[in-house]
Amino acid sequence: MRPWVHAGTLNAVRPRVHLNVVGDFYVEDRCCTQCGVPFSEAPALFGGEDEDQCFVARQPETPEELAAMFRALEAADLRCIRYAGKDDSILHRLRATGNADVCDH
Ligand code: SF4
Repeated sequence: MRPWVHAGTLNAVRPRVHLNVVGDFYVEDRCCTQCGVPFSEAPALFGGEDEDQCFVARQPETPEELAAMFRALEAADLRCIRYAGKDDSILHRLRATGNADVCDH
């Protein structure tokens, strides 16, 4: 278990990569295996392809971008793309598809 996750708590606010833009979707810090998934699934939303760490460069604004973010989130190594928001439709979709563990709330 990572040291910043409270015992018995899967859903908890995690430290963010400092390059993430402000917003509900973020990449967790100290979590990267350089899986490359964000750059194949949602290249318009992520930065860091030439670095050793990806980050959310732009929050999704359209249904198509949200779908791309979900694809990246679901396929990312180590579950390191997370959702900190409280939008009911997004939380429902994440929970219904077995991704409740990436929600901070
Ligand atoms: S999704 Fe995770 S493992 Fe993949 S590149 Fe981004 S931080 Fe690294």
